[in-house]
Amino acid sequence: ESLFQNIPLAEPDKIFHLTATYVQDKFPQKVNLGVGAYRDNDGNPWILPVVRKAEQIIINDPNTNHEYLQITGLPTFRTASAKLILGVDSPAIKENRVSTCQSISGTGANHLGFLFLSRFYRKDVPVLISNPTWVNHKDIVRSVGLEFREYAYYNPKTNGLDIDGFLEALNDAPNGSIVLLHACAHNPTGVDPSQEQWCKIADVIGAKNHFPFFDCAYQGFASGDLDKDAWAVRHFVQRGFELLICQSYSKNFGLYGQRAGCLTVVSKNADAAIKIESQLARLQRAEISNPPAYGARIVSLVLNDPQLHAEWVEDLRTMSYRIIEMRKQLYDKLIELRTPGTWNHILEQIGMFSYTGLRTSQVKVLIQKYHIYLTDNGRISMAGLSTKNIDYFAKSLDDVVR
Ligand code: PLP
Repeated sequence: ESLFQNIPLAEPDKIFHLTATYVQDKFPQKVNLGVGAYRDNDGNPWILPVVRKAEQIIINDPNTNHEYLQITGLPTFRTASAKLILGVDSPAIKENRVSTCQSISGTGANHLGFLFLSRFYRKDVPVLISNPTWVNHKDIVRSVGLEFREYAYYNPKTNGLDIDGFLEALNDAPNGSIVLLHACAHNPTGVDPSQEQWCKIADVIGAKNHFPFFDCAYQGFASGDLDKDAWAVRHFVQRGFELLICQSYSKNFGLYGQRAGCLTVVSKNADAAIKIESQLARLQRAEISNPPAYGARIVSLVLNDPQLHAEWVEDLRTMSYRIIEMRKQLYDKLIELRTPGTWNHILEQIGMFSYTGLRTSQVKVLIQKYHIYLTDNGRISMAGLSTKNIDYFAKSLDDVVR
């Protein structure tokens, strides 16, 4: 008998499991709306043209090698990442109160960020997370020994934000709690606070001495405008908060499997920033020694070259505008079909995902009868829709809500 005979069998990851089921399905019109990765109008993964170009430059550079990066990663990548999220004229950057560490994409940034807080912040306060949130947040928080508590976020009656419940939960939490916020394009709901609502959220976080922890996985991908998608983070920085930001280049560069990301900490002064960065390096050393180079090189090259940067913005618009177009087409078709219910939220929600409001029982029918795959909370990936399958999806959705 094995020493591990009696350990429980872990459940498979829901989303990866859903994709595996989709792949096995032989039905010709099958649709995958589960996976959180961009697809072009033919349903294929898309390598951004600017990424292709950068790859060629890197491959042909005689100075490229496969040596280790520094523990905290590629310096040009880290500096460019901080500028991208904070803005080139950020006072925090000018005052040298920013610490950065390259991470294993957004997931790794979240992990390193919470690990850092678990060691150097407080252990007696919860991490406040939105209800619902990205499926991995709870496990990441738990994995470093912190506790979480949920705050109200999504209002199923309006398919929009429950701002009153949100503010109330922030107020009710112990002073100094860590507040996990989605910088833009909230996953899984696609519901973001307005700028006015962000100001109210910042007021309460300030009054309660909470610590803002931003997860930013969709900058530029959400609206097609890098500055607009960074507005909330920059607003908090402007108001003088110390905070932490996780950046992922999975979606906005399409570098999913390359694991390019960055953790940035904004603090009060340069002295603290140096100490923070030294501790991030120490934690990183024990976890992964040093981060992967390939994706970071691509991102660094593009962000630091004005011409390539401009081409990247074009690619971002290609992706975000296609998704916005799919929202419009889906909405129009549901109106045309006179599908019962209101569907404005499809237009109002932003980013990769939409919370349709479908119930688990309706999702089941979509999967079993129509071979349309989505998570049982009714979340759909807009990127899985195309001009080729949108009619089929709209009609199937219409059928299950009738
Ligand atoms: N955070 C949020 C909110 C996400 O939606 C995602 C990806 O779906 C991530 C983080 C991390 O993704 P990755 O580790 O691929 O960058």
